[in-house]
Amino acid sequence: KPTKERQRLPVVPLGIERDEFMKALKELGEQLGEEHVEINDKPLVDGWYMEHPNTHDMMTILDEEELVASAVVYPSSTEEVQAIVLWANKYRVPIFPISMGRNLGYGGAAPRVRGSVTIDLGRRMSAILDINPEDYTCLLEPGVSFYALYEALQARGYSHMWIDTPDLGGGSVVGNTVDRGVGYTPYGDHWAAHSGLEVVLPTGEVIRTGMGALPGNNTWQTFPYGFGPYSDGIFSQSNFGIVTKMGMTLMPNPGGYESFMYTFPHEADLAPLIDIIRPLRIGNILENVAQLRHVTQAIAALGQPRSDFFPGGDDDGGALSDDVVHAAATKHLAVGDHTWAYYGMSYGPDHIRKHKLALVDAEFRKIPGAKKVDPATLPADDYYFARDRIAAGIPDIHELRWVNWTPNGAHVAFSPVSPIRGTDATALFKLGKDTHDKYGIDFFPAFCVGLREMHLIVEIVFDRADPERRKAAMDCLREMVDKAARLGYGEYRTHLVLMDQVAGTYSWGGGAIMKFNERIKDALDPNGILAPGRCGIWPERYRGRGWEM
Ligand code: FAD
Repeated sequence: KPTKERQRLPVVPLGIERDEFMKALKELGEQLGEEHVEINDKPLVDGWYMEHPNTHDMMTILDEEELVASAVVYPSSTEEVQAIVLWANKYRVPIFPISMGRNLGYGGAAPRVRGSVTIDLGRRMSAILDINPEDYTCLLEPGVSFYALYEALQARGYSHMWIDTPDLGGGSVVGNTVDRGVGYTPYGDHWAAHSGLEVVLPTGEVIRTGMGALPGNNTWQTFPYGFGPYSDGIFSQSNFGIVTKMGMTLMPNPGGYESFMYTFPHEADLAPLIDIIRPLRIGNILENVAQLRHVTQAIAALGQPRSDFFPGGDDDGGALSDDVVHAAATKHLAVGDHTWAYYGMSYGPDHIRKHKLALVDAEFRKIPGAKKVDPATLPADDYYFARDRIAAGIPDIHELRWVNWTPNGAHVAFSPVSPIRGTDATALFKLGKDTHDKYGIDFFPAFCVGLREMHLIVEIVFDRADPERRKAAMDCLREMVDKAARLGYGEYRTHLVLMDQVAGTYSWGGGAIMKFNERIKDALDPNGILAPGRCGIWPERYRGRGWEM
């Protein structure tokens, strides 16, 4: 009977009767403890970043009920994860593992198949199993956040080691890494920085990868490969296993660091600037995954709604014009008007930094009008200082501010990869800008420069309570993905809703890579229970039955 607390009839996964499903959940409760099996029958509450839901995507781009869990379960050990997997096989119930579920912009905590049982690994599996101060490594369970790892190093007095954090520190080190997320120190490629996994396979067996397969080893976190095929890759951005432990390498404290910021006046500075950045980055003079951000994002990072920037508060509904953007920059930004801002950090003792910074300065000043910003001129809560903390591996949540851009702010990302070349940057910028203008969406491009490639991260901020704005965001994204693919650019990661489309763009050889993935999926997961559809990989039982979006 509905009460205030119980207002929703829980969704039941397709292919099982409601009564049978409820009985099956009861059986699982008997194994895990009934308090660790939660039926999703309460109203869907979005909360906020630090109190996010695990039943759905708090920044949904579809109707919230579309991608929703039927229940959430909380294992406390690898053995309990195995028990859940065996249970799911018995009843053919789709399960969807999350570490902490803060995958905002990429689907949050939502499962790909409506009515899946979400396995929230983070709630009870949040131990830091080891921190090795000699090898500079750690071994983590899925519930360890970037904040928790940072605080553990501080608490143990390990100031000789740094962590690497994404822009928001509340996510899971394991969850972010298996989705191939990025941070902004020299250890910013998290997948490249991990060493060793423990994985529960979809049929319930457990494996340890790399040196973890050798009983008695002391190299699981120091040598990632072990012997034979390197299997870790198939457990990132996939649905082939549930990671229950992961090794991570830690960065040595570089013995000093110094952030720097340059601004550049014109949109057309992009191409020559990117060509200047390339050899500096590949040669490691620019040492971290640094960002080149557009001025619209600097305005949004003030944390004020976009309506504040229209003269007289007069929002005409379209994307902000260049005139409005530059007028707002002149009036509101401590650094004043500009088009591009480069945020970087130099690492090491003073004399080493000095040499590298002088090289950077000489190169960046080749762009007419380039300015180096003196941090002493900036207010204490300027975005610069958030970048400074992140590039020093100090977790933060300042970055959330730009999500206030619209009422009920939510965001979704378009993240194509290209070489670090001016021509590519210009092509992607134009593609993004034209498509945003067509849909009346403000354009927030940031180029995140890796070692030999860059991710263009474009965040579309939209009002999630407005179906029309949700649709505009979605249409804009879908169009950008297709246009980018036609030019040879692909996404490094994507939102749940776009996974089929993005996977479809990786179509060389008649879709050879997806055929390969499907063969692995069917071999490892014959009943198709684990995260069906994630990254566009559908198990045999679902294929060709209308699940793709
Ligand atoms: P989860 O949500 O737990 O996991 C992500 C996905 O990986 C899950 O949906 C699941 O499919 C899979 N998965 C997770 N754990 C397991 C497991 N144990 N076994 C198998 N599969 C698993 N991201 C970045 O990378 N860099 C950034 O700089 C960044 N900046 C952001 C800024 C803002 C303002 C916002 C809102 C988001 C940003 N994000 C960024 C995106 C996101 O917040 C982070 O990537 C976050 O770390 C992901 O959430 P999580 O760590 O809780 O992972």
